[in-house]
Amino acid sequence: MELRMDAVFERLRAAQARQAGEPLCAYVYDLHALRDHAARTMGALPAGCELFYAIKANPELPVLETLAPLVHGFEVSSGGELAWVREHFPRMPVIFSGPGKLDSELRAALQLGVDGVHLESLHEIERLGSIVDGDREWRADAAARGRVPVLLRINLALDGLAETRLMMGGKPTPFGIPSADLPAALARLRDYPQLELRGFHFHLLSHQLDAEAHLRMMSAYLRQVRQWCEEYRLGIDHINVGGGIGVNYRDPAAHFDWPAFCRQLNGLLQTEGMPGVKLRFEPGRYITAGCGYYAMEVIDIKQSYGKTYVVGRGGTHHFRTPPAQGHSHPFAVMPVHAWPHAYARPEARGAAVSVVGQLCTPKDVLAYDTRVERVRCGDVLVFPMAGAYAWHISHHDFLRHAHPEQWYLPAAQSQ
Ligand SMILES: *Cc1c(COP(=O)(O)O)cnc(C)c1O
Repeated sequence: MELRMDAVFERLRAAQARQAGEPLCAYVYDLHALRDHAARTMGALPAGCELFYAIKANPELPVLETLAPLVHGFEVSSGGELAWVREHFPRMPVIFSGPGKLDSELRAALQLGVDGVHLESLHEIERLGSIVDGDREWRADAAARGRVPVLLRINLALDGLAETRLMMGGKPTPFGIPSADLPAALARLRDYPQLELRGFHFHLLSHQLDAEAHLRMMSAYLRQVRQWCEEYRLGIDHINVGGGIGVNYRDPAAHFDWPAFCRQLNGLLQTEGMPGVKLRFEPGRYITAGCGYYAMEVIDIKQSYGKTYVVGRGGTHHFRTPPAQGHSHPFAVMPVHAWPHAYARPEARGAAVSVVGQLCTPKDVLAYDTRVERVRCGDVLVFPMAGAYAWHISHHDFLRHAHPEQWYLPAAQSQ
């Protein structure tokens, strides 16, 4: 996704000019770049494929509104996400995943209508089945409603599966049904004829940067599902191949190569595709990571036993992505010329710095050992690639600091 640091700087400068005294701290979301990126991502998708956005990566309403006209649907992983999507997008196709679904959440899925419930365990099959069986209203209306579309999420152990930093399958995990339990799962489904098996769901990993490895995994999914369909005489209409498309935080030029992946996938589907069976993708990070920026004004700069610390307004309670990823997040310094104070302006020049926030813990580190030409108190640090798993995975109320502003560069803005 194209980074538009200049447009973000412009927005921040305008805000800073209006700001009365308090140092700036904000998320800026570039909806223009998001729309562009999503349109390109969808445009590359081969025929016979669909893409649902996994909203947990960033469920902000303007983000969803930007994506809704472009993607095939939204993937939700909780009753809260389901209610949020249905409140604002009553007709958007939705699929519902996640371990530990509550009975109340399964009921909500039936009431609000979903395109698929992804079942994560044998017990969950029984719970959904008995909810449907026991739901008089549903049964009375069954002919009109049709059966409940379900997918089985399978934790598949694949030979030669190239591991990434975050694995949800291919080894013991709480996710999905181990493939050895598939016969038992199919037997349970037969006990509940109101549940209609529409396909299989796989989400084995995240942070995939290697398009070739991902393609090999797609090929393995197709082979496996074809074999199951033959062996158990199943008629399905799609395979959900999960998300997990990675972004490279250190080197944006080395993101997952989606266009190349899609070209090769197209070829793969010609030779190994199953007639009448769609592939459905459900990425989160790859869609929204690039549209977000976290900005913090520098409050203090200090030396401690030979190391330079830059203290910004905010911290990992707003932007937990760096410690969650265990990385030093790249940032740019937006120089601010005004210095309205009589006292000296601390600065660091040509130094390797650590950027920390306002929390009273040594873990509140956003970047480390990063060389800067110059940074001064009152300058603003801007962290790009902060649009996914950033604000929404952070512990906002730790220390009861103020929350950051949330600003949007409009999708209509042309540049
Ligand atoms: C989180 C999640 C996704 C999205 O993962 P990304 O790495 O953000 O693409 C997709 N599917 C399931 C089941 C998930 O839990």
